[in-house]
Amino acid sequence: MTETTTPSVTGPRFAARGYEFTPFVDVKNWVGGEWVAAASGASFKIDNPRHGEAMGLAPDSGTEDIAAAAAAAKAAFPTWRATPIKERVQVLFRLKRIMEDNIEELSWLVSHENGKTFAESKAEVEKGIECIEYGIACANMPGQLMDVSRGVSCQTSYEPLGVVAMIAPFNFPTMVPLWMLPQALAAGNTVILKPSEKVPYGGYKLAHMLKAAGLPDGVFNVVNGGRACVEAICDHADIKAIGFVGSTKIAKLVYERGAATGKRVLALGGAKNHLVLLNDADFELATSNIPASAFGCAGQRCMAASVLLAVGDCERYIDRMVEVAKNWQLGKDLGPVIDSAAVERIERYITQAEQMGAKVLVDGRGAKGPGGGTWVGPTILDHVTPEMPAGCEEIFGPVLSIIRVPTLDSALHIENRNQYGNAAAIFTSDGGSARYAIERFQAGMCGVNIGVPVPREPFSFAGWNQSAFGHGDITGFDGFRFWTRARKVTTKWAKQSDQTWMG
Ligand code: NAD
Repeated sequence: MTETTTPSVTGPRFAARGYEFTPFVDVKNWVGGEWVAAASGASFKIDNPRHGEAMGLAPDSGTEDIAAAAAAAKAAFPTWRATPIKERVQVLFRLKRIMEDNIEELSWLVSHENGKTFAESKAEVEKGIECIEYGIACANMPGQLMDVSRGVSCQTSYEPLGVVAMIAPFNFPTMVPLWMLPQALAAGNTVILKPSEKVPYGGYKLAHMLKAAGLPDGVFNVVNGGRACVEAICDHADIKAIGFVGSTKIAKLVYERGAATGKRVLALGGAKNHLVLLNDADFELATSNIPASAFGCAGQRCMAASVLLAVGDCERYIDRMVEVAKNWQLGKDLGPVIDSAAVERIERYITQAEQMGAKVLVDGRGAKGPGGGTWVGPTILDHVTPEMPAGCEEIFGPVLSIIRVPTLDSALHIENRNQYGNAAAIFTSDGGSARYAIERFQAGMCGVNIGVPVPREPFSFAGWNQSAFGHGDITGFDGFRFWTRARKVTTKWAKQSDQTWMG
């Protein structure tokens, strides 16, 4: 499927499974198994970043809408919780099948609401499906049982928390909700999803698909909106936990405000990922992987390379990366950025770095993609310093800032000083240098000769430092633990236990 074709998303494969979805309609909230408008009647416009035209409207919800969703989720909780986990995951099996059957259409939708290319969108949907598989695997986590003394046993089981909420960013409208949703549902929670107001179709289609997969009404609810919704989630007494993914500023706010009302909160924030390049690195590998990390998804990934710490003489690598970057085609190799505010912010970082003495080797300012929209081309800045905003702040666009350093230790010093800690990687052919760097990086997700070191399930995902607030990781077993609490049961059968210290 090419970028420009418009597939029939209400076509036979969607319809065959009783799943109807028309894209680019006005979105509503999904509360207690009904599509409803915001209580206030307010809505916001959803723009397509590819051509800038409006795709539809979504409810601009607030406290009342969150209260209605929390009430629906609370009412659905006792029955869902009492449903055996083996049965609960059947819904996830069916969701996985619906998504696989409709992967082309789902990818096309992601690529239009978010802007990323069709291939990138498909990779996002595939990763979401992988997370569903892990959620299904949670049915095989029965807890522990052990005889701890004569006639005395201890047992641990993982119990759901109740009503939980998930707040998502714009850059992965389908995958980020699916980082959290399968495990939370498998564990027996009922859920409120608050998608990014920039990309509400991901949550909208998940509601459709979960309904078609047989999820009882009220178990999954979607409330659209922005700040007012998020604040209402933080403050609502019946919401027991929040999984948040977004920028550091908001992650911290949500962490603090949610924790203030006694909620369990895991809030993943922004990033400034450093790649270290040694001049013994495999040439082809380094010069293809590094630009792909920096410019893929138009740099709008929390795992994107942002700073390249070039150790010693790396001229030939840089020359080739400049060539590679110049060959990236807008619309084919990378999509637009999310909106005009993003264009303005990214271009401001480039101009500011230039004014502070950086050299613009590849300039993506003023880029024009096919059909209008909001675009920034691949950009490489050389001779950036860690003090320049482009050298230390999150830009969240297709910009690679090169900082020249004399030694591996000086590279690590810069990486370590940065406030974030999502990802870091080293490109080298020397195992000793790789190990030395990995042991010293201040980042939760590290890589060797890989530009985007995203852990695959069952390995878990989250950064360190200002890239994450709260305890544990958001996927993998940590994710399951986050959405559950342990019940410990100690049992004594009288006769055998008389002579023990617990007797
Ligand atoms: P954002 O922080 O602007 O928005 C995230 C969510 O917070 C949205 O649902 C939004 O509606 C809400 N929100 C926005 N402003 C708010 C406010 N003032 N008060 C309360 N809620 C508010 O992030 P974004 O622009 O949608 O996404 C990009 C950011 O997300 C980047 O910083 C990126 O690094 C980060 N991100 C991090 C990860 C990770 O795993 N660490 C993954 C994806 C994206």
